[in-house]
Amino acid sequence: RPLTTNDLIEDHRICVCVRARPLNKKELTTKDLDVITIPSKDVVMVHEPKQKVDLTRYLENQTFRFDYAFDENSTNEMVYRFTAQPLVETIFERGMATCFAYGQTGSGKTHTMGGDFSGKNQDCSKGIYALSARDVFLMLRKPNYKKMDLQVFATFFEIYSGKVFDLLNRKAKLRVLEDGKQQVQVVGLQERDVKCTEDVLKLIEMGNSCRTSGQTSANAHSSRSHAVFQIILRRRGKMHGKFSLIDLAGNERGADTSSADRQTRLEGAEINKSLLALKIATISPGMASCENTLNTLRYANRVTEL
Ligand code: ADP
Ligand code: MG
Repeated sequence: RPLTTNDLIEDHRICVCVRARPLNKKELTTKDLDVITIPSKDVVMVHEPKQKVDLTRYLENQTFRFDYAFDENSTNEMVYRFTAQPLVETIFERGMATCFAYGQTGSGKTHTMGGDFSGKNQDCSKGIYALSARDVFLMLRKPNYKKMDLQVFATFFEIYSGKVFDLLNRKAKLRVLEDGKQQVQVVGLQERDVKCTEDVLKLIEMGNSCRTSGQTSANAHSSRSHAVFQIILRRRGKMHGKFSLIDLAGNERGADTSSADRQTRLEGAEINKSLLALKIATISPGMASCENTLNTLRYANRVTEL
């Protein structure tokens, strides 16, 4: 049964969803098998290849339940509807919200959050950053919010091996300070004034080209860095609400601690600061990715128990 608005979960502090992408060209060429099935709107099944002692092969089925599971036919718009969209409403009413994309490199985090940056025709208009911005400006037109005189700002920065770089200011290196109330401040982060969705699209494009410039491979870099895109509402200069949309580093190097310490602490600070909702996971369907996929699902499963 396809998801409908009746399936929307009301007032969840933390919501965890998983999205599986379709097999890509490379996986199809190498005849990789799709080991994922999504039998219902909140269940993910992994059919893990195993071998008995007598070397006969079999598939072991493992089942995981989440708030929502999106199969390979899902669109960004649909994923958005059930994950980030309710949080856009939240920042108008209750302040902070965060939406994370967590998963293996190549599983679809950036495609989901930022839009399609893979081909020649870069299109960020259908990513969750842009869809959220679109709805922020729609909300602003509602009489209740219109009379509040809210201003919208956007920031876009990257956390790479423990350092913070402003993607809207030529990758300026920024300092991160924690104040007495355990609030994390990124000192000097540019907050750009945005008046419409097009303004936001321009910033996403600019930030994204800044993110990947000078890199031999866009994915090699983005797999090791977190990108944070924020939409901030201000009323007479004061913060009214903030939505952080985070395209996390690939999770496939869980055992690599070289960059983990400060980076992980920053992540932790971000999580503690504005944790209202955590919506996090994308998976690759291929058998070659099975182990990473299971790690992602196990992690995402633990988050639901927080
Ligand atoms: P990640 O950011 O997790 O490393 P990407 O978002 O860059 O992964 O996705 C890797 C490739 O797969 C890209 O070429 C992207 O366009 C494609 N892709 C990802 N998710 C989907 C999807 N749901 N449908 C079609 N293509 C997708
Ligand atoms: Mg990416």
